[in-house]
Amino acid sequence: MWNIEEFTEAAGITVTALAAYVDESQRGAAPVVRRRPPRELADRLGLRDLIEKGGMTPDSYEDFLRTFLAEGTRLHHPAYLAHQTASPDFPAALADFVHGATNNPMAVYEMGAAAATVEFEVLRWMLAKVGFPAGGGVLTHGGSLANLTALLAARARAVPDAWDNGVPGDLVILAPPAAHYSVSRAASILGLGQRSLVPLETDALGRIDVTRLPDVSGKRVMALVAGACATGTGLYDDLGAIGAWCRERGIWFHVDGAHGASALLSERHAHLLDGVDLADSVIWDAHKMLRTSSLAAAVLVRREGDLDAAFRQEASYLFYGDQGFDLINRTVECTKAELGLKIFMNLAWRGERGIGDYVAGRYDTAHRFWELARRRPGFDLPYEPESNIVCFRYGGADQAGLRERMMRDGSFHLSSTELNGVRHLRVTVMAPATDDRTLEALLDEIVAIAA
Ligand SMILES: *Cc1c(COP(=O)(O)O)cnc(C)c1O
Repeated sequence: MWNIEEFTEAAGITVTALAAYVDESQRGAAPVVRRRPPRELADRLGLRDLIEKGGMTPDSYEDFLRTFLAEGTRLHHPAYLAHQTASPDFPAALADFVHGATNNPMAVYEMGAAAATVEFEVLRWMLAKVGFPAGGGVLTHGGSLANLTALLAARARAVPDAWDNGVPGDLVILAPPAAHYSVSRAASILGLGQRSLVPLETDALGRIDVTRLPDVSGKRVMALVAGACATGTGLYDDLGAIGAWCRERGIWFHVDGAHGASALLSERHAHLLDGVDLADSVIWDAHKMLRTSSLAAAVLVRREGDLDAAFRQEASYLFYGDQGFDLINRTVECTKAELGLKIFMNLAWRGERGIGDYVAGRYDTAHRFWELARRRPGFDLPYEPESNIVCFRYGGADQAGLRERMMRDGSFHLSSTELNGVRHLRVTVMAPATDDRTLEALLDEIVAIAA
């Protein structure tokens, strides 16, 4: 049994340590990233002894936690500008804690009625946001699984007996080469193979060229995939034009909004998703721009029955029909975490408006970086950003080397990507603490290191 006193003490230590950690991180008062070699870290954290002998107490836990928090990557730090992982907000963190203690695994209603109902209502809200009034949805552990699930629904639409008899050899998926790799993985997992992927023509920045969509006569198209936005560049495909083209041809239109669907919450940015309501399926990650911890992603389909058809089940849950309320038949997973709760908690605390302001603020700060960098000699910025992702190069320097150096110093954490075969540095503005001062300091730092 839990010793309630011990739990209360340890939980208090956790809150105090996390509060100090986030406070220090937000103020930029510690290195943004630390990467000691694993052998050294294992010693520092006393891992082997603790694994073999146990015996952790509130005191030794406090020491352990302090070191653990110091030896990682700080996503609340203004200089955290690397990957699209959320800088988590605390209401969602509370939900993770509650989940850890209650463990009402989603998917089977009898295992957590409150948790399941929260998931239903969060999905209903997301469906309304993308414009699917008669739609259905499910939360999964991440965008990769969400893409797989949506494309499975598309497969069931194109080849209703594929679940029993496998897939015919002539099915194709149309997608831009810049599509997230989980799309091409899904093609192989779904039995279509890599040969099924037909790359769409794009402009120089990898966006689908709507004037050069392919002739599909005689082809069996399972789905067309568009990006909102693309992982590498953060640029949005023209969903309206692509959606209309798909409609005319009866092609399943899948929108990968893993990163960028959250722009729907910002009045000034929602237009980037114009046409998303023409989609047959959309995915939307909460653990990117809705500020939950990893992972929580939504699969949303225009017609509720399409998701049930994906796994050959008959049901209607979201609108509380007279049947059971189990979502287990809509996901690859069996057991699932209380994913809805962390999305709900951020909404409940900040409101749709508060989260929308956060998204707008990060998109604006990325745009500001583009403006500041463009004014300085030596910086090459191949496009004006549309989201919170900006790619750039500085001079002829070894770009990967610049990034390594900043990580080693713990000064800035950037990512990098290839654009048209050329290595670029990549800034993703996630932390609310990132401001103009951070951006100027980053530009100064790059110039200084390169010199
Ligand atoms: C991040 C991302 C994914 C994958 O999502 P995970 O949650 O990391 O599995 C898919 N598509 C796009 C466009 C993404 O940015």
